Amino acid sequence: VIDVPVIDRSRLAALLAEERDAYVRTHPGSAAVHARAEHLLGRVPMTWMGMWTGGFPLAFREAKGARVVDVDGTEYVDFALGDTGAMAGHSPSATVAAVRRRIDDLGGITTMMPTEDAEVVAAELTRRFGLARWSFTLSATDANRWALRLARLVTGRPKVLVFSYSYHGTVDESFVVVGPDGQPRSRPGNVGPAVDPTTTTRVVEWNDLAALERELAAGDVAAVLTEPALTNIGIVLPEPGFLEGVRELTRAAGTLLIIDETHTLSAGPGGMTARDGLQPDLLTIGKSIGGGVPAGAYGVSAEVADRLSRAVDETGADLVDVGGVGGTLAGNALSLAAVRATLEDVLTEDAFERMVALGTAYAEQVRSIIETRGLPWSVVQLGARAEYRFTAPAPRNGGESAAAADEELDAYLHLHLANRGVLLTPFHNMALMCPETTIQDVARHTALFGGAVDALLG
Ligand code: PMP
Repeated sequence: VIDVPVIDRSRLAALLAEERDAYVRTHPGSAAVHARAEHLLGRVPMTWMGMWTGGFPLAFREAKGARVVDVDGTEYVDFALGDTGAMAGHSPSATVAAVRRRIDDLGGITTMMPTEDAEVVAAELTRRFGLARWSFTLSATDANRWALRLARLVTGRPKVLVFSYSYHGTVDESFVVVGPDGQPRSRPGNVGPAVDPTTTTRVVEWNDLAALERELAAGDVAAVLTEPALTNIGIVLPEPGFLEGVRELTRAAGTLLIIDETHTLSAGPGGMTARDGLQPDLLTIGKSIGGGVPAGAYGVSAEVADRLSRAVDETGADLVDVGGVGGTLAGNALSLAAVRATLEDVLTEDAFERMVALGTAYAEQVRSIIETRGLPWSVVQLGARAEYRFTAPAPRNGGESAAAADEELDAYLHLHLANRGVLLTPFHNMALMCPETTIQDVARHTALFGGAVDALLG
């Protein structure tokens, strides 16, 4: 029997204070960028950048491959990779060349006209994910928003179902969680909702097919919107049979299944949809596919495409002008040139093979540290991505995972790593491998993680 070590909270607080001091002392350039930012809301370009622990975010000067250099000239191994926006690595050469060609040689960043790249990209998305028809957006959020509108139009039903503590971007309908009393409630912190989202949305816990069946039985759910694994509350994998069950239950209920592959693309070139043979009616994706250039997409099955054109004829829904599905710069020439190059030359099958192998090495090494120290923590891998959570066994659903959150521990680990040249995503303990991440980078994180844990255990 191993004694499970208990985290000494006063020791943790003292170590966190030391790391905070060191962070402030050794990052004067980033501190100055923050201090000067008088015209920015929250002193950051986007309010979520305030999530970086240490009082101010690192301001960066250069980024290439798996490396970032901050304004003080310090180099980092970047496992945050723009929270997946840079899964292809920072400024991948093929993407940069295609973007340069579009801008410098051909000219034209946004017009109101298609380029030849659009069909090439759509065909590649069909090859990877199986969905028959595609349309473009600038973000994963917008892909989800439009997918939900299309699902309501096609089914004539008003509601959406999401899993508790999922995240799909700033999509109004998705900010619902299962409360402590088992009832749906607006997610804590929801900013200025137009309507109480429990009126638009049903919600159940992940891995709970009985609850899903119960909620779908009402017959008013247009679509289940889900990632194939939760990745925004730690990583919570589907139990064997769960996704098959979701597919069967949605089919039986006449509810469409929208799979959001924005993060789970880490599983392989066609995400979990291709890896596990999922059969979504609609699929959404964003972040990574433009190699850092804003781009998102949604795909619909041939059947949904047919139903859509019929629904447009029957209802007069305006799919082309001001009906609520749009985005002036969506599908612009620059984004599509970037997506084409990123898919053809960067996020390739070979690249995924290496990235997933590194994800495995990362998870194994972290697991070995957790196990040798006897910590009641867990690590979950999803292809090229892995994340640790301060509970074991790994949580089964979003509610359990949310309950295991430990902000102080997160802050300590993030700062300990950042102060020694390794970056994790500020929102999570998530690490992502890009094509240029190396096994040495992984080993560097492992050594630092081990050191941080040992300092904590004393
Ligand atoms: N879907 C998933 C699964 C996400 O994790 C996110 C963002 N974290 C989004 C959609 C939204 O992406 P964006 O903020 O780029 O629109």
